[in-house]
Amino acid sequence: VQRVNVSEFDLIAMLRERCAVPRADVRVGIGDDGAVLRVPRGRQLVVAMDTLVAGVHFPHDTAPADIAWKALAVNLSDLAAMGAEPAWATLALTLPRAQRRWLDEFARGFAQLARAHRVALVGGDTTRGALTITVQAHGLVSPRGTLLRGAARVGDAIYVSGSLGDAAAGLAIAQGRMRGVARAVAKTLCARLDRPTPRVALGAALHGIAHAAIDVSDGLCADLAHVLDASRVGAAIDASALPSSSALRRAVPDAKARRHWQLSGGDDYELCFTAAPRAAARVAQLARTLRLPLTRIGTITRRRGLRVLDERGAEMRMSEFGYAHF
Ligand code: ADP
Ligand code: MG
Repeated sequence: VQRVNVSEFDLIAMLRERCAVPRADVRVGIGDDGAVLRVPRGRQLVVAMDTLVAGVHFPHDTAPADIAWKALAVNLSDLAAMGAEPAWATLALTLPRAQRRWLDEFARGFAQLARAHRVALVGGDTTRGALTITVQAHGLVSPRGTLLRGAARVGDAIYVSGSLGDAAAGLAIAQGRMRGVARAVAKTLCARLDRPTPRVALGAALHGIAHAAIDVSDGLCADLAHVLDASRVGAAIDASALPSSSALRRAVPDAKARRHWQLSGGDDYELCFTAAPRAAARVAQLARTLRLPLTRIGTITRRRGLRVLDERGAEMRMSEFGYAHF
């Protein structure tokens, strides 16, 4: 293992070379005292920031490429939940030491996701200390395309993208709390935890279809509750309608046992959004275009609070889906 330390100068030069995806709207990127960026006429800037701390948000032995991917992914997910198209990012890196190999891998993971979404790294800061990664992502949205938590309306259908519960099951496997899972299945679930897919194309395409949106980072119930509070409405969701991946079905074959992972498990970074019932055909068309399942899981109600109904339509108690586990 190569353990060569690099200077801060080399580190910045390396990040610049690997992650400064060329974009015409970057007038000044890495290398000056600040970045100078052009916001096109008629669009607004959406800014999101998230910090990952080693030992808190990821285990100390997480692969550096995965750490970088996730630090960017969680921010792109926030932009997607706002309906914004990602454009630029800044990166604050706090490192206990600057090892070339670690930094190489980190830059590789960051660049992989940044290039996939044409996000340019335009600046940042580098300091010494306990391993901490902060990314700020900047996106663009037309004022009318912005998806806010407070925009859900009574009677809206509630949808969720992709599948729920995979990342929480992946974490349980990684921590030895879920045993006996076939190796390939375990790998799929752990990948959902380590390399979440931000639903960027979906967020941008929901303009004119969705009313409210949020990304599922803390768990469906917790995140949907933010939408309900902000919109001053309630919701009834159908536990038997929650989308499961084939990997989760294999890891947890019993549908009832799966529910607590799907209702309370975090880190999936799917989008949960509301739309008028008459938009159902457009949502279905969008799912086909994006090749991404968009599943209706419930309805926004005038009655406040979140009710979770079982397959017979009976209201489940929080304890039944194991909220306390998390
Ligand atoms: P200053 O003293 O002006 O803050 P720095 O030495 O911190 O300058 O940064 C020099 C340049 O390198 C700046 O353009 C800054 O945005 C960029 N930079 C520093 N650290 C990072 C990083 N971790 N990722 C991307 N750009 C960085
Ligand atoms: Mg600085």
